Parts: sequence; structure tokens; C-alpha cells
Amino acid sequence: MTEATILDTSKQFINQIISATTDGERIRLCLQCGACSGVCPFGFVMKYPPHGMIAALRAGMLDDLISTDTSWMCVSCYACTQVCPAKIPVTAGLTTRVKEEMLLTGNVPSELQDALEKAQRYFNPLGESPRKRADWASDLEPEVTIMAKAKRPVDVLWFVGDYASYHPRVMSSTRAMTKILQALDVDFGILGPEEVSDGDSLRLAGETGLFEMLAEKNAQALGKYEFKEIITTDPHAFNAFKNEYPNLEISYPVRHYTQFLAEHLDQIKALMKHNVEATVVFHDPCYLGRVNGVFEEPRQILQAIPGVELVEMSHNRENSLCCGGGGGGMWLDGFQWEKAHVRISEWRVREAVSAVGEDEDRPRILVVACPYEPPRFEDATKTVPGAEGLLVKDIAELLAESMGIEG
Ligand code: SF4
Ligand code: SF4
Repeated sequence: MTEATILDTSKQFINQIISATTDGERIRLCLQCGACSGVCPFGFVMKYPPHGMIAALRAGMLDDLISTDTSWMCVSCYACTQVCPAKIPVTAGLTTRVKEEMLLTGNVPSELQDALEKAQRYFNPLGESPRKRADWASDLEPEVTIMAKAKRPVDVLWFVGDYASYHPRVMSSTRAMTKILQALDVDFGILGPEEVSDGDSLRLAGETGLFEMLAEKNAQALGKYEFKEIITTDPHAFNAFKNEYPNLEISYPVRHYTQFLAEHLDQIKALMKHNVEATVVFHDPCYLGRVNGVFEEPRQILQAIPGVELVEMSHNRENSLCCGGGGGGMWLDGFQWEKAHVRISEWRVREAVSAVGEDEDRPRILVVACPYEPPRFEDATKTVPGAEGLLVKDIAELLAESMGIEG
């Protein structure tokens, strides 16, 4: 290739970012200040951290940029986008687009490839049977309404999501949430076997085509039923329905379950019977907080639980630190460990320990609102000094405990 052709390829790539991304043209305004790379949790191991990606493209080095595998260290946490003084859509336009290109050239770690193939084949990245998607509810009383069986309108369509449906640890939060909805007398239903992955994390790992296929399948299922709104367990599903599905002309009113519960707080307060004597700290999930601005509702719920003392970690709200599961990170643990010899979830648990203190007589709880997090953080508590005894609980589990209705 001549020097001019090499430059042209990089220029074309920048033009594609500009045409395919809202505010994409701002990429031309990059100051090379390096703030994006400074906040990037894995910037220190990337050959091209975000500011370096832009410099590489300007220098005509697209080929080198997509031939390094270190861009797979990006967990799509949006911290770079948040701090960029030029308001460049770094995550949506640049890092996701680079991953897309890396997938096209076959530069993809095998563990991520495996998750993508499972999602293609079984419509969820865990590779579980679609028929078993509602098995978590099979023994619950009263019975959970599955839309295809009930054949009636409901007020709320609960989009349960992959990990909340299948992961053994997360299922207990799903069952707790069910009990809460039932205690609140909410008329809700689930898609059960008709639900497929929301696909948002696959999109952020560069698999746009697969994301669109999954969105279409969800739209076909949802289109058969009548409901007033969707609530999601997963902030990634919330983000997909709120910000991404409308681009595919799939549009429904949607809320994350913490928003829904915060709206019912007066009713919930009347149902809470037990004190939960504990010092708790809340981890803001990237796609609930930083990306979609939901910071207060989870805190309002926690502050309403009798006995709970809520404290904050040094990184909180828009400056929260990722759990490491986004942007494909959920399926890249081995790869990322090999590169960095550290897990972001361990950093986060260290912050949690420092925030809740070491009073051994009082329970300490790291509270979460995303189904990726209980397994990631519980794992991290096993290796972080001082984290022995730190519990990890979903908000729904804590509420159900106080209401005396644990699933
Ligand atoms: S923070 Fe924004 S302006 Fe600064 S180097 Fe990164 S992308 Fe460029
Ligand atoms: S989205 Fe997060 S992980 Fe990815 S480049 Fe930006 S700061 Fe780094």
C-alpha cells in the first residue's frame, strides 16, 4: 500500500465515525489533552488508549490500531466520554467502532468469540436454552404471568434479561423483585421463552449486526402483547430500550426497576417490617448512572430502609468506577487478567471496604443494581484484603429482607 492509500483508509474510517455517530464530527476537535486516557481504567495497558486511537487515525495508522488486541481492554464505561472537554462521543463513536473493525478482521479473543457465538445460536451469551428462560419462576407462588400463556394485557412488561434469568447467583435477586412486585400488587407479566438478550453489551463489543437481530426478535415478541410500560432489571437493557432500539424504530416507555420502585416508595415504606442494621455503599452501574443519569432513585430506596446507614465511595455518581463487565468485559475476564494482572472489580471492592470501614460488629454491604455485579463483586471479596465479610446484595434483595418476603 502507498502512503497515500494508508492515510486514505484512516481518513475513511474517521468519516465513517462522523457519519454514523451523533456528534461524530466532534472527533475533529480532539485537543490531545489525554483526559480520556487518564480516567480510562485500563488505559495503562492499552497500546492505543482513547487519545492515542485518535492520534493513530490522524497519522494514518488504522491497520496498526486494529491489529493490537489491547483495545479489547475497553469496558465501554463512558468515563472517557464523561470527561472529554471537546464533548467527543469517544465510547459510542470511537472505541465501539474500533472493536467493530477488529471483529471484522478476526482480531477477537477466543472467550469473547465464544460468547458471541452462543448469543448468535441461543440468543443469550450464556449459551442457555431459550426454553429455560423462565425456569427461575417455575416454583413461585403466586404464579408469574407469562404473556404467551396469559393472553391478556398487563400494566407492566418486565424485561428480565439474560443474567437475571439464568445466572444462579442473580436469580435470587430476580425472585426477590418478583415478590416485591407481587406485594405491591403490580399487574405485571414477562415474555419468558420469547424474550432474548437485549444485545446492548454485544453491540458495545462491536457486534452491531447481532444486536440488531436480537432487537428485532424482542420487537416481534413485544409487538404481540398489550402493556403500558417496560421495566428492566438490567441497566444495559434499559439503555437499549431507551437509547438504541428507537434508532431501529422500536419504541416503548421504559424504566429501570430502581426508578419504578422509587416511585412506589410510600407504599414500600408501609410494607417494611424489619430493620436492616448495616452500613451500605451503593455502586452506580455505568449504564444506569453515568450514561442515563439515574443516581438518586437507588439512594432514595436505600435511605428508606430502616436501620441502613448509606455511605459513599470516593468514585460515585458520574465519576463511578466500572465493575469491569461492560463492553464485552463480562466475557473477557481471562484475557483482561492476562494483560493487566488486576481486575477492576477488585479496585471497586477495595473502595467499598474503605467506605464502609472495618467495624466487625456491624454488617457491611456493597449494594448493586445490575445483574452483572453480584458474581463479579462476590468473587472480588475473596481476594481483596479487608473484604472478608463484606456482603454483596442487590437493592431488591435488601428491600425484600426488610419487607420479610425473601424469595
Ligand atoms: S479527552 Fe477528548 S479532547 Fe482530550 S484527548 Fe481525549 S478525546 Fe481528545
Ligand atoms: S469507555 Fe471506559 S474503558 Fe473504554 S476507553 Fe473509555 S474510559 Fe476506557
